[in-house]
Amino acid sequence: MLIKGVREVRKYSAYKCVSVVSRQLSSRLDALDHEERLEGCLSALPAKAKVVICGGGVMGAAVAYHLARRGWGPNTIVIEKEKVGAGSRWHSSGLVGSFKPTLAQVRLTQSSIRLLQELEAKGRSTGWKQCGSLLLARNRDRMTVYRRMKSQSVSWGIPCELVTPKKCQELCPLLNVEDVLGGLWIPGDGVGDPHLLSMSLMRESVENGVGVMEDCYVTAVLSKDDRVCGVETNHGAIDCDYFVNCAGFWARQVGQLARPKIKVPLLPCEHYYLHTKPIENLDPMTPVIRDPDGYIYLRERDGCILAGGFEPIAKPVYEEEITNMSQRCVPEDWDHFHVLLQQLLKRVPSLSQAVLHKLCNGLEAFSPDCKWIVGEAPEMFNYHVAAGMKTVGISAAGGVAEATVEEIVDGYSKYDMYELGLNRFLGLHNNKRFLRDRVKEVPGVHYGLPYPFHEFETGRNLRLSPIYPTLRDNGAVFGQVMGYERPTWFETIGENEPSDKP
Ligand SMILES: Cc1cc2nc3c(=O)[nH]c(=O)nc-3n(C[C@H](O)[C@H](O)[C@H](O)COP(=O)(O)OP(=O)(O)OC[C@H]3O[C@@H](n4cnc5c(N)ncnc54)[C@H](O)[C@@H]3O)c2cc1C
Repeated sequence: MLIKGVREVRKYSAYKCVSVVSRQLSSRLDALDHEERLEGCLSALPAKAKVVICGGGVMGAAVAYHLARRGWGPNTIVIEKEKVGAGSRWHSSGLVGSFKPTLAQVRLTQSSIRLLQELEAKGRSTGWKQCGSLLLARNRDRMTVYRRMKSQSVSWGIPCELVTPKKCQELCPLLNVEDVLGGLWIPGDGVGDPHLLSMSLMRESVENGVGVMEDCYVTAVLSKDDRVCGVETNHGAIDCDYFVNCAGFWARQVGQLARPKIKVPLLPCEHYYLHTKPIENLDPMTPVIRDPDGYIYLRERDGCILAGGFEPIAKPVYEEEITNMSQRCVPEDWDHFHVLLQQLLKRVPSLSQAVLHKLCNGLEAFSPDCKWIVGEAPEMFNYHVAAGMKTVGISAAGGVAEATVEEIVDGYSKYDMYELGLNRFLGLHNNKRFLRDRVKEVPGVHYGLPYPFHEFETGRNLRLSPIYPTLRDNGAVFGQVMGYERPTWFETIGENEPSDKP
């Protein structure tokens, strides 16, 4: 019966998908395809700059903006392979949530939200809408997590409240709450538009002296006495003192262009969301809904519903196969998406009446431990990285960029950047086979239950001590530290009962 149901979902999806092609797009959705261009770009690279930023996405734009704020604008050049902010309209769901797994990440996200609000107050559009977000719980463990978040919220400065299923439905009448035990309501959360945000940050930067060179790509990053000394591009070379790698999911590839090479262990995975056509009477202030036990999220965008999620087993992609923006939205895979579609139809039954506009399959970079990669590279002084944004790049950009700029300008940051630093990686983490194996598991962690002592199951047994077999045979349960298998505890195992733990 279930299999039949799934097949029906697939047939139904395929029908909706085909029907989209034959329909004329509404003007609202046309507006989403329209991307503005940046005025005042350079036509040639200068011979020298203090800082060169590689990448004109939201992260590169935010770093340029913060450098300009500190008066370094006239000494900063952004190099972008294609166009600034290109393609980002369809490449992000735009959710901006303040709760993150650690205090350090929360502080960075709070800085990003402040930046969105400041830009809006200045009249620069960012798409910021403070519609709040509602997190749903389907089981008691999830409710325990929310209770813990509620108590953390006091010292972390995130106003939020625990709510009943009835209140969840009042906050979002679209929801079916029959299996919901409760939720967490975070009124300060919202949504932003990555393209508008990138353009506003870049415009502010250009007005404050930053030079932006489009259609130009970095081919090498050079060093002298272990320090960055220059960058080579297809438009010639430029001397510089600092280099910031903001190349999104190409950051690993850009790391390989440096001499010596820089490890930036990340790999893109497919990330899906569907976008409906406009839905009558949909409240524009519909909160962002996150239902992590069903791996899904949804929000309102331009009168339509945007709904996606983090399936437990993701599909990695090799970044070399994606050479330009037009390939960045890879072909959709309805069979892969059906895990999420089933859950979405369960949570919002009226979605089955909605007309689909498109299923977007964008790519996003994930690091092997599901944390951002930010800081100075151990291989080369003054080489900074801000990448591995694991689908929260909009929430991260402002804060991560502020911290990066503090490290460049002041030599230290007021934020605690320790857990995000590049020296947590070894060469083995940058190995492609390891990354391809590991990142399948990483997006699922995003919405997984954060049990203590969580260990990844993939990419294991890479570094073993000589006594590993003896430890294992005596019931050791291993944890991984710098790729090294270390016994975390010992389980009593019965006679003739082999341990099934890694
Ligand atoms: C489907 C989807 C949904 C998402 N939803 C959300 C969300 O809800 N909330 C959220 O906060 N985030 C979300 N994200 C993530 C967010 O969109 C990204 O993290 C963010 O856009 C990454 O920005 P970036 O500047 O780091 O990278 P990019 O936007 O990829 O920019 C990198 C730039 O570097 C350039 N480049 C690469 N190589 C070179 C080179 N050699 N020389 C010069 N330039 C180069 C590229 O052309 C590109 O423009 C989502 C992502 C996807 C795919």
